[in-house]
Amino acid sequence: MLLEGKTALITGASRGIGKAIALGLAREGCKIAVNYRQNNKAANNTVADIVNAGSQAMPVPADVTIEQQVKNMIDLINDAWGKIDILVNNAGIVNNQLIMRMTEKAWDDTIDTSLKGAFLCTRHVLRKMTEQNWGRVINISSVAAQRGNYGQCNYSAAKAGLVAFTRSVAREVGKYNITVNAIAPGLIQTDMMDTVPEAYRKEVLGRLAVPRFGTPEDVANLAVFLASERSAYITAQVVNVDGGYI
Ligand code: NDP
Repeated sequence: MLLEGKTALITGASRGIGKAIALGLAREGCKIAVNYRQNNKAANNTVADIVNAGSQAMPVPADVTIEQQVKNMIDLINDAWGKIDILVNNAGIVNNQLIMRMTEKAWDDTIDTSLKGAFLCTRHVLRKMTEQNWGRVINISSVAAQRGNYGQCNYSAAKAGLVAFTRSVAREVGKYNITVNAIAPGLIQTDMMDTVPEAYRKEVLGRLAVPRFGTPEDVANLAVFLASERSAYITAQVVNVDGGYI
């Protein structure tokens, strides 16, 4: 197995892409800390699925936008398992509004979840990662970072910020055998996709080289590779999982 003996913290792992990444890593022998914000039932289901898949997991509720909660969560995982080898910054929300109608709250909440959350989680896991001279950080960006999206200036800016964050942190920590990469999914079938208007879905589908929407597992397959030793010389990169969105 690719990740035998490793431990991972995956933010927003109760549902969707985060859950698929959790299961993908777990099937390769990784222990998983399943972070989420409020949906206890969904998080417990993820934990049960991981245990059924033959690995270990624990639910770790925390709002990634609040530093004290992030710190407590990471301390709890380190106390239980001694280390966090892999961090997947996956938690994200959408709050779509046209810019002239966008509230400050819609801007702040969206930026804080994807971007500040990644900053806080990364900052607090890096101390141990640098000490052990090995680590993987995977940030879930979006094609919206590259193309922009109607009604999503907050989300697109957050996801583009995550790309610059990825490249900058990669430069700082490469000497410790820590790689930092981003995945940019296209339209993936999760609860979040329910917020996408039907007309826009059709338009996107017409532009895909592989004419279907993505599955969370499509994203998870890349995350497993980026979490493993096989990707040791790949860092500061953004890899699209978007069916060839052209
Ligand atoms: P979902 O809406 O299905 O799941 C979001 C997850 O994030 C849930 O586990 C939720 O927890 C958690 N979460 C939200 N806010 C916080 C917070 N403040 N602290 C901790 N956890 C939080 O999203 P997806 O699976 O679709 O998306 C996952 C990531 O992929 C996101 O970053 C998204 O932007 C990105 N992405 C998604 C695409 C898509 O088409 N689906 C396309 C491109 C990128 P809870 O269950 O408790 O609410």
